[in-house]
Amino acid sequence: VIIVHDFPPNFAEIAEKFDVVGKPIIFAFGNRIFNPENIDVVPALIAHEKVHGERQGSDVRGWWRKYIADTEFRLAEEIPAHIAEYKIDVARVTDRNRRAVLAHRIAVRLASPLYGSLIKPTAALKLIREAA
Ligand SMILES: [Zn+2]
Repeated sequence: VIIVHDFPPNFAEIAEKFDVVGKPIIFAFGNRIFNPENIDVVPALIAHEKVHGERQGSDVRGWWRKYIADTEFRLAEEIPAHIAEYKIDVARVTDRNRRAVLAHRIAVRLASPLYGSLIKPTAALKLIREAA
């Protein structure tokens, strides 16, 4: 994965749908991660974006269009990405309570309006715990 300090090629399309301008957000685009705000891209985030990049396959722009337009597709793509992110984060943590906090944080994000509120936090938590 190559991290590029720039906007992704389809940033205008993304910004039409999501509130991303000036936000500390990174974007998977094939084997590259675009990081326009130059945020600290920690290993867990790389793992997350790598899942997106791999699933984008040869039609990256097509994947993005579907991701922007289709909330269920978006959630389905975010579940494995968040699980990959959680696995990296939780590997460094041995304390039970800290692990629970991490799992809860990821679950709340998956259940958020950004991904259409299509899953309840408790169901998301169950998915994460079962996968990790
Ligand atoms: Zn994601």
